[in-house]
Amino acid sequence: MSNAKAYSAASATAPLAPDNIPRRTATENDVKIDILFCGICHSDLHQVRDEWNSVMPTTYPCVPGHEIVGRVIDVGSQVTKVKPGDLVGVGCMVDSDQACPSCDKHVEQFCSNATFTYNSPDKHSTAPVTYGGYSESIVVDEHFVLQVPDNLELAGVAPLLCAGITTYSPIRRWGDIKGKKVGVVGLGGLGHMGVKFAKAFGAHVAVFTTSPSKKEDALRLGADEVIISTDPVQMKAHAASFHFILDTVAAEHDVNAYLQMLGLDGNMTLVGAPETPLQVSAFALLFGRKSLAGSLIGGIKETQEMLDFCGKHNITADVEVIPIQQVNEAYERMVKSDVKYRFSIDMASLKQG
Ligand code: NAP
Ligand code: ZN
Repeated sequence: MSNAKAYSAASATAPLAPDNIPRRTATENDVKIDILFCGICHSDLHQVRDEWNSVMPTTYPCVPGHEIVGRVIDVGSQVTKVKPGDLVGVGCMVDSDQACPSCDKHVEQFCSNATFTYNSPDKHSTAPVTYGGYSESIVVDEHFVLQVPDNLELAGVAPLLCAGITTYSPIRRWGDIKGKKVGVVGLGGLGHMGVKFAKAFGAHVAVFTTSPSKKEDALRLGADEVIISTDPVQMKAHAASFHFILDTVAAEHDVNAYLQMLGLDGNMTLVGAPETPLQVSAFALLFGRKSLAGSLIGGIKETQEMLDFCGKHNITADVEVIPIQQVNEAYERMVKSDVKYRFSIDMASLKQG
């Protein structure tokens, strides 16, 4: 066991502040990683502020962070996947039983024994719960360590580990979207990655945004058109025209307005996780035989596939790199939808501070 510098929240109302946390000594299957960058996901904010209390209550202190890139500094005797010096990533999971039907199907995120990167019971009993990537180092079972392509800028790679896979996975699962009209609701961390992937797979991409000021950026990121979702005239002009819509909104909103944008047999997949339940009108689904689905991150195999795809097509997140000392301001900006388009924490700042 050793101590690592980290930032943690002591309660749902406390700001994130410097802390020291225990990290286990690498076991034979473990990889110890020196963290270089960690993205800030809206899920970090939901969890830190205990907004998901009814589903996943937060245990304090809470060290968030599940968009991790770093360099391997130590490996256990049985590790074959990576070696010291390798650039690697860790996403939302650090363990699972690797024996159940979900693990067999490479969707470890649905394993009933999955250990999430933070706020999950710690199987190694190093601490009551796992501690995430707002930290100088992390120790992870090798199965959950991803290889990072060496041609990409690392600050922009970190968000691929959650925002990337969370949007890549449902877009892939929805089949061939080439030439089809695909919508992305919300241009934040997830949304801007959704635009990049939908475009990379050849779709005609439209962004639904509540922020008119993001229009130019949406087009630059690859959108073919931008719909201001608060403007009923613009919304009406696109009614019943979409094949697939990815909803990334973090707050309460009217999903029926977007379901009405779907054409016959269209699907809308939710990845956003607002704290309050959403109201769905049956009629918004009945007419047009539409479906509403959900999706949670992606399995390890698919996450590696996504990273390799990003390496090949030169895709990274658009990031604003910040020192960890600015993390609380970043959270406040995220609540105001003022993220361009992901914050990525430069972890060197933690070592200096
Ligand atoms: P984010 O960067 O804050 O982006 C969310 C975007 O939603 C905002 O930028 C904003 O875009 C839009 N928005 C915010 N409030 C809105 C409202 N009231 N009505 C309509 N649009 C609104 O957050 P994120 O990190 O992308 O995460 C988005 C959500 O996905 C969070 O709930 C997060 O917990 C969840 N998540 C889920 C998974 C999963 O596996 N399913 C994984 C990661 C994150 P505009 O300014 O363009 O309107
Ligand atoms: Zn996330």
